Amino acid sequence: MRYDIAIIGSGAAGLSAAVNAKIRNKNFILFGNDELSSKLVKAPSVDNYLGFYDISGEELKDRFKKHIESMDISIDNKKINSVYSMGDYFALMSGQEMFEATTVIVATGVEFSKPISGEEEFLGKGVGYCATCDGMLYKDKSVAVIGYNKEALSDANYLSELTSKTYFVPMFPEVGMMRSSLDLNSDIEIIKDKPTKITGENLVDHLHFKNHDELAVDGVFVIKDSTTPAALVPGLDTKDRHVMVDAMMRTNIPGCFAAGDCVGKPYSYIKSAGQGQIAALSAVEYLDSMKR
Ligand SMILES: Cc1cc2nc3c(=O)[nH]c(=O)nc-3n(C[C@H](O)[C@H](O)[C@H](O)COP(=O)(O)OP(=O)(O)OC[C@H]3O[C@@H](n4cnc5c(N)ncnc54)[C@H](O)[C@@H]3O)c2cc1C
Repeated sequence: MRYDIAIIGSGAAGLSAAVNAKIRNKNFILFGNDELSSKLVKAPSVDNYLGFYDISGEELKDRFKKHIESMDISIDNKKINSVYSMGDYFALMSGQEMFEATTVIVATGVEFSKPISGEEEFLGKGVGYCATCDGMLYKDKSVAVIGYNKEALSDANYLSELTSKTYFVPMFPEVGMMRSSLDLNSDIEIIKDKPTKITGENLVDHLHFKNHDELAVDGVFVIKDSTTPAALVPGLDTKDRHVMVDAMMRTNIPGCFAAGDCVGKPYSYIKSAGQGQIAALSAVEYLDSMKR
């Protein structure tokens, strides 16, 4: 099955792209999560979304949900780990699963946590974002999992079954909690310290910390909600971690479009929704041009 459009992200940008793709009768898939976007839920009060004065983020989320449900749009609750341009289509990887689409809209928002020094340099050379995809490379080796969310716990547990040693570095607020509440296999060593850099020659060999001694490791998995666009789509032009786009939301890769916070400031719902629409219409135009 090859989709016309794959939309990555279920915030204002991705949802607006989906609504417009649906109106234009395209065969599309929307990746994200049922809660739509954690940033939507977090806003205490939104005063600048036209037509919805003094609405809470939670209420705006409910309105967005109702809108897509009314149009029979569903969200595929999956995280996309990588997108590869294959010439006339794109291959999207989610763990071991692969999806194909003729065009892609990147609407992944912004990840505010800065990459650790060495994270981008060693991506694919010992640094990974997906334990299911790359775990087998570390059979009988040692790895560290830097976990920004609870999903990282199950990734660390899976890796501990394969590797000779797995370290877990929790980066979420429960860092102060007891080991028992972290639901980790007993052979995993927890390091409660700030990772500062990843080093190595050609491949990763050490993870360094603010206070703790450096760890000798063969791999470092960084598990967070979103990856930088450059890491998600190899070859994508970015500046200051934002995707470079023209006014039609086209990126440097033909058939790949981007919208919302991931293309730059201002970070706002209404701008994201507007850009999502432009990206969808540009994708439609691109699909039409392929037929001519
Ligand atoms: C506390 C707070 C208050 C705010 N208040 C306002 C306000 O009052 N007014 C205003 O205009 N803006 C406000 N904003 C900004 C607003 O939240 C953002 O501009 C808006 O959410 C951006 O929408 P987006 O679709 O680009 O990205 P996001 O809302 O960040 O959505 C991106 C989605 O993509 C998903 N995703 C990311 N990577 C992947 C992947 N690899 N695979 C699958 N899914 C993925 C994420 O899980 C998320 O669901 C506020 C933000 C915060 C944090």
